[in-house]
Amino acid sequence: MSNTRTYNVITYGCQMNVHDSERISGLLEEAGLSRVEATPESPLGGGADVVVFNTCAVRENADNRLYGNLGHMARVKAEHPGMQIAVGGCMAQKDRDVILSKAPWVDVVFGTHNVGSLPVLLERARVEEEAQVEIVEALQNFPSNLPSRRESPYSAWVSVSVGCNNTCTFCIVPALRGKETDRRPGDILAEIEVLVAQGVQEITLLGQNVNAYGVEFGDRQAFAKLLRACGRVEGLERVRFTSPHPKDFTDDVIAAMAETHNVMPQLHMPLQSGSDSILKSMRRSYRSERYLGIIERVRKAMPHAAITTDIIVGFPGETEEDFERTMEVVAASRFAAAFTFQYSKRPGTPAAEMPDQVPKEITQARYERLIQLVNEISWEENRKLQGTEVEVMFALGEGRKDTETNRMSGRARDNRLVHVSVGDDLAERPRPGDVALATVTHAAPHHLNSDLPIRGLRRTRGGDAWEAATAPAAAPAGVGLGMPAFGRPAGT
Ligand code: SF4
Repeated sequence: MSNTRTYNVITYGCQMNVHDSERISGLLEEAGLSRVEATPESPLGGGADVVVFNTCAVRENADNRLYGNLGHMARVKAEHPGMQIAVGGCMAQKDRDVILSKAPWVDVVFGTHNVGSLPVLLERARVEEEAQVEIVEALQNFPSNLPSRRESPYSAWVSVSVGCNNTCTFCIVPALRGKETDRRPGDILAEIEVLVAQGVQEITLLGQNVNAYGVEFGDRQAFAKLLRACGRVEGLERVRFTSPHPKDFTDDVIAAMAETHNVMPQLHMPLQSGSDSILKSMRRSYRSERYLGIIERVRKAMPHAAITTDIIVGFPGETEEDFERTMEVVAASRFAAAFTFQYSKRPGTPAAEMPDQVPKEITQARYERLIQLVNEISWEENRKLQGTEVEVMFALGEGRKDTETNRMSGRARDNRLVHVSVGDDLAERPRPGDVALATVTHAAPHHLNSDLPIRGLRRTRGGDAWEAATAPAAAPAGVGLGMPAFGRPAGT
């Protein structure tokens, strides 16, 4: 039995939080803790000595969910001497001391700008036997400069910026993540080089508004240059990015995407609304014409690009006519997929105070009409791919039914989800991270199937990295290997 203290991180919210959780895990492992996974008996925290909640304030009812879970943890902690609970992320940044007044059994509250302080705060709370709250207003250390425990050996997030200088009226991010801070291109590329040397072959550049990247150091073309620089990193096969912003999206980025071999033909371009008056009231400074112009230019430069979006239905003041404008833009844009949201009030955002909140039943009816249109279009677009061959990078955890259907799942270059039949011969199967060509035999609205034999299976460095990370550990139990602890799929 090892004496190593254990930890578990519970993550809510966006990719930014997922990425921050990788940093939190890396910091705790550097401090000598080893990870335990949640179990059916212990779904919250897996019985770990240190349980960290990395919270999100964006979702509706985020408060209820967090405080409900913390209430449950009080009972867990009472039966687990020495256990510590930490709360970080956007809810911590927003609620601060309120967390301790509602859940006094919490040991540490830390904000979005001082993730790096967590190990010290935990230690201080233990030694002083007193809860520690540390929220700072500005970024202390760029998250990517902190140690990390990546969730995948072949694919990684890389932050280019944090925070946002926009003030969309429905969004709590500017209040909680602060002004945009850009990372130097040299630092970003150095991190990518290190990741690629470790076996990573796909990276996703991450920022609240990647197209504003460079604003802090005065280079408006910095993002396009960064994409082109990624094209020169040997061994880097796939580059993606999220999220862009129609206001700042410029033609130099389109050209860089089209001309850089490893930047994937995929674009997630948040629309939010097709109505100009609603966009104005959302304080999103582009209009539908500009949005459609971007889509047109992207399609001209990359005819096979899959374009996806985010749309909010039922924003305060949205009339039937406004909603019709959204339906028109959706019909014209032919999205491969759309993430659709029913507007709900976020306390602390300007939109929450706006008059003319749309009744729930109207929002619901519009939402259902929108979903139907979105699904029809994405299905039609997917059907166009039937009979074609797509390059799939296999991944772990993409297909819930893979074991029962004898398939492995992965992403095409345009990020479409593909479920691929793989034979019974285990030696011939792709590993997560490996790449092969698959013929699309069936299209559904949200995925493609391939039930013919794969071609050109390529054993990649990413697949090697996955295999190394999942090989039976030679080290004694309880010693963190610093690599993800994936289980092999059943039967391998
Ligand atoms: S661009 Fe708007 S929605 Fe996106 S993070 Fe900034 S304020 Fe929020």
